[in-house]
Amino acid sequence: MDRSLSPLARFLHRRSKKLGKGDPVTPPIIASTSFHLPGEPEASHVYARYGNPTVEDVEAGLSLFEEAETVLFPSGMAAIASLFHAHLRPGDRVLVHSDGYYNVRALLNRFFVPMGIRVETCPTRQMAYADLSGVRLVLAETPSNPVLDVCDISALARRAKACGALLAVDNTTATPLLQKPLDLGADFTVMADTKAMAGHSDILAGHVAGRDEALMEPIRAWRRLGGAVISPFDAFLLQRGLATAELRLARAGTTAMALATALRGMKEVTGLRYPGLPDDPSHQTAHAQMSGYGPVISFCLPGRDHAERFIAAHPLLTPATSFGGVHASAECRARWGDAVPDGFVRLSCGIEPTGEFVEATLAALEIAAARSV
Ligand SMILES: *Cc1c(COP(=O)(O)O)cnc(C)c1O
Repeated sequence: MDRSLSPLARFLHRRSKKLGKGDPVTPPIIASTSFHLPGEPEASHVYARYGNPTVEDVEAGLSLFEEAETVLFPSGMAAIASLFHAHLRPGDRVLVHSDGYYNVRALLNRFFVPMGIRVETCPTRQMAYADLSGVRLVLAETPSNPVLDVCDISALARRAKACGALLAVDNTTATPLLQKPLDLGADFTVMADTKAMAGHSDILAGHVAGRDEALMEPIRAWRRLGGAVISPFDAFLLQRGLATAELRLARAGTTAMALATALRGMKEVTGLRYPGLPDDPSHQTAHAQMSGYGPVISFCLPGRDHAERFIAAHPLLTPATSFGGVHASAECRARWGDAVPDGFVRLSCGIEPTGEFVEATLAALEIAAARSV
């Protein structure tokens, strides 16, 4: 297909020109785990752990957004685990964020440290200045979840290259629609498609993308041998989500920006973070490497009770974990043990009408504040 077209246009029309008369316009779900295979076991498909046409079609779609080879997994953590399994060996040092998705550190500490991998951590905003000598693999997460700090991907990639370290960027909060770590020099992007890419809070999915075949081959081999294969039904739902991801992210991003701007003036709101705010500590770097700032904002209210009252009083806020869904949601991250204040709220904007959502938020803040006196 014409390479001058945008990834979204190519994604939406990737089937159109290949169809024969009477073929289904929507990609079918092919559930088969085995394939007609007489004689020698050589065919386009042999067994679903090795490859399934529905899963491959969605991978090809994701590859358009990533502009890179993409390996799809049944969750974001399965994608991240594949990266560690494929590229870490006993004695290796791995540097990961100290303030990003906490399960990454839990996975390394529980299963990789006992195998002789040395794990070091660094806050996201200092990652680009970390000492990488002797480091095998760096995993940065930008913007970080839940605090939304940002690191300079190009600067980090230059340092990694100079030290012979591989760089992976967890692109879950931004998605390839808003940020292209591979263009900025990263070797891999990893992410949870569970969040904004699938977008409807009804499947788990994740992927690893990269442009160096030799680095991607062990990722694919690990999936085939380790067996972390997504179901074709979930892959189908992911491709449905991908078709609207840009529209959903545009609305959610507009709402997040409007909401962050409105919250600036509220006296009970402290520590407000949104990389899109011109005076946010992340803004300069975010502006240089992102084309939009995503659906998530974070802020503190005066204590856990106050924050819970706010979430409960909001008519358009689902009290739930995760983010990037069509419905706005929020939670106090302290309940998971994140290193944040008790009243810290992570709020994910959905596709609700922007004005209506901002007004409802301000009203809920007023109710929560009134009940505290
Ligand atoms: C949710 C998340 C993951 C893990 O994704 P799952 O699909 O839940 O396994 C990884 N990284 C970040 C930044 C996330 O927010």
